[in-house]
Formats: sequence, structure tokens, C-alpha cells
Amino acid sequence: MNKWQEEDLKYIWHPCSQMKDYEGFPPIIIDHAKGINLYDIDGKCYKDVVSSWWCNLLGHCNSRISNAIKKQLDSLEHVIFANFSHKTAITLCQKLMDKIPKGLCKFNFADNGSSSIEMALKMSFQYHKQTGNPQKIRFMAMTEAYHGETLAALAVGDCDLYTKLYKPLLLDIIRIDKPDCYRCPYCKHYKTCNAECFERTEKAFKEFGNETAAMIVEPLLQGSAGMKMYSPVYLKKLRALCDEYNVHLIADEIATGYGRTGKMFAFDWAGVSPDIMCVSKGLTGGYMPMSIAITTQEIYDAFYSDYLEGKAFMHSHTYAGNPLGCSAAIEVLNILDDENIIENANKKAPIFNNMIKEKFSKLPYVGDIRDLGLINAIELVKDTKTKESFDGKLRLGYQIYKKALDKGVLLRPLGDVIYFNPPLIIDEEDMEYVTDVAVSCAKEVLNI
Ligand SMILES: *Cc1c(COP(=O)(O)O)cnc(C)c1O
Repeated sequence: MNKWQEEDLKYIWHPCSQMKDYEGFPPIIIDHAKGINLYDIDGKCYKDVVSSWWCNLLGHCNSRISNAIKKQLDSLEHVIFANFSHKTAITLCQKLMDKIPKGLCKFNFADNGSSSIEMALKMSFQYHKQTGNPQKIRFMAMTEAYHGETLAALAVGDCDLYTKLYKPLLLDIIRIDKPDCYRCPYCKHYKTCNAECFERTEKAFKEFGNETAAMIVEPLLQGSAGMKMYSPVYLKKLRALCDEYNVHLIADEIATGYGRTGKMFAFDWAGVSPDIMCVSKGLTGGYMPMSIAITTQEIYDAFYSDYLEGKAFMHSHTYAGNPLGCSAAIEVLNILDDENIIENANKKAPIFNNMIKEKFSKLPYVGDIRDLGLINAIELVKDTKTKESFDGKLRLGYQIYKKALDKGVLLRPLGDVIYFNPPLIIDEEDMEYVTDVAVSCAKEVLNI
């Protein structure tokens, strides 16, 4: 352990970690970064194929984003956002209007993903209260969903690892069985199916639609559940059902937005719009903590009245609309356009996917290989015929993670699912390298 690691462990309680694991595996102290490369204080390089928790969209230390923030820093670093505004936030909204699903047009800022989820839930609840439906006080969400870790965001989520312990504190959510595409009970494939599993959702709406304010989804990709993917047809059907029951559709595009799925937003694949869309992560390219809950004129109007009627949305975050975050977010949009980032990522996606299939598909224990945009996931199972999963006790993902770090690749699998979610600028040479390392580490851990 070096001196910095000792000092780190003296003071820092790291997120989502059993700190005892750090005894034999101390934190890697990163000194600087460029593109997809992280460099530690000894100069060792790590390929960041998880985009540093899925937020780094265009590589680390992108000079255009850095310069945009520096320029902003010299004119305005922050200002109260109630009654005050600034050109950078306004410009960002103008630019986003060309990119977001139709009908979304009002932007409410916060500073992290979970906060934007909290905001969306409160907004929906209050909307119904103020439009004559005070009985709509519940939320629907999918099994194995992930929407963040503040209490209401945690409540709509359903990953046991994060949620189970806190159940006594959480809202009572109407839970809808997620599309289970690898183990599809209808024996279909999510790229060609007609979302046959939607009938379960219809049943839930029949029973609970009247008391429900909103249904929240991670569109097309349940990230933390293990990069589980499902059909855009599901979203299309869900839009129609939500309309029928006057239930808001909240899109958690925090992980899927900004080209990760091959289109600007995952909802674009379905050709329908949500009522509230939460964005964060890719929003600033992963440079500054910022999020936005974007909603419709209709929802906005339900809060618009004389102050003493008490209909305003009395919700605030100190750093709402932070100019540094907005300056980064504008430059991200400029880069996406100027450098055809999403188009180019879509050209690379089949190459990456073929590489992964070639290297992994013949291995024992590989149950499923799935992809969406540049996101690729490999699900390891005990028995590929029955699809019986390993129980997490072997900590296969964690073992692979440690081995890959040794070889200079930051993979961080989810349970028994190895995945890649690299910055969209990754090149072919790096794709070869990281998939070679991943496959050799998987073989070592699985003794094959
Ligand atoms: C990361 C994430 C969140 C939470 O965002 P934080 O900034 O970590 O609070 C919510 N939903 C999804 C889908 C995410 O990937």
C-alpha cells in the first residue's frame, strides 16, 4: 500500500463498497486521464470501459469541454436560480429542444440523477392533486429497476443489493414484472418480438391504474439489473396504456440518454414521448454533476396560478442550473453534432459486438450475449441449457474485475454479468484490447 492509499483509507468511506475488501485491495489513486485511459500515480494505465460509472461520454479531459468550463469559470461560477438566470442555462435549453422527444419543453434543474427522479415523482403527484385526481398517489415501477439511491428513488428501484435493507423506510410501490428477455416465457427475442409480455402490465393497470400517478421506467435497458435489454414495442404500448389511465410516463434516461443506445434517447427508438424525462450522466459528458427533469407544457400549466393558491412546485436544489455544468452540457451537444459522434458510434457498434461474440460465444458458462448501441453484456450462467444462474456467492464478477484491473482494464461487472459501456469515442484497437483482456480474465476465473 502506498502513502496515498493509507491516507485514503484513514479518511474516505467509498461509495457502494464493503470497506473491508479494501484491506487487500486498496483504492487505485488516479493521477490524470485522457480519452478512455486513466493513469494512476505510478503511471499505470487503465482502459475505462465503464465510462466511470456510465457518465463519461466523450473521453476524459476532452479539450473542448475543458475549455468551455474554463471560459465559463472566468465569467460566472454560480448564481441563485430562483428569480435569477443566466445565458448559459437558457442556451442549453434552446439547444436541447432540437434533441429531446416531442412535447417536452420545460426544464427543471438539479445536480444528480437521483434528485431528478425525486423531482419527477413529486411533480407527478402534485400534478394529479391539482388537476382533480387526488387519489393518484402511488407509483408503478419494474422489478429489478434502478433509479438512484435517495429514499424515493430507492423505493421505485428494486435491486435487492441496494434496496432490501431499507424496505421499512420506503414508499409502497406497485411492482410490475420486467420483460425478462433472456428467459422469455414467450420464447421470443427482444429485437423482433411484439412485447408479448406486456399483458402483465395491462393487468396491473386494470387493478391499480386509478390510484397511480406515474409509471417510471429505464427505457430499453435495465442497467444495474445486469444490462437487461427489452423491446421498444414495450414503450410504445406503455405510452398508450398510460394515456388510457391518465398515468404519467416517467423516462429515466439517466443511463440511456445521449447516444448510449444508438439514438440520442432510448425513447427515440419507440417514436413516442414520455411526460417527464430525467437526464444526467452523459448530460455534461461526465464533467460536472448536473441533472434535469424535463416535462411538458401540460404538466407545467397545472402549477401555474396566483402564488397564494399554493400550486407552485416548491422544490429546489442549491446548485440548480449551475453555469459550469451548463457550459459543459452545451459543449457536449456541440461535439455530438460537429463530430458526428452517435453516427460514428453506430458504425463501430457491430464491429464491437462481433468481436465480443467471436471471443465469448463458444466459452462454457456464457448464457447470453446482448447489445444495444455500444453497450454489450455477457451473462454467465451455471447451466446454459436450463439458464440456471450462478448464485452471487462466488462473486464471479468481482473476481473478474480484480483480474482485469491487474491487466489494465476497468470492467466492473454487475453480479455475473460482464459488460462494456465505453465512452462513445473508443477506437477499434482499444476494443480489441479490452475484449482480449476480458475474455482471458473470465477464462481464468472460470478455470477454462
Ligand atoms: C445512475 C443512475 C441513477 C442515479 O443517478 P445518480 O447521479 O447516481 O444519483 C438513476 N437512474 C439510472 C438509470 C442510473 O443509471
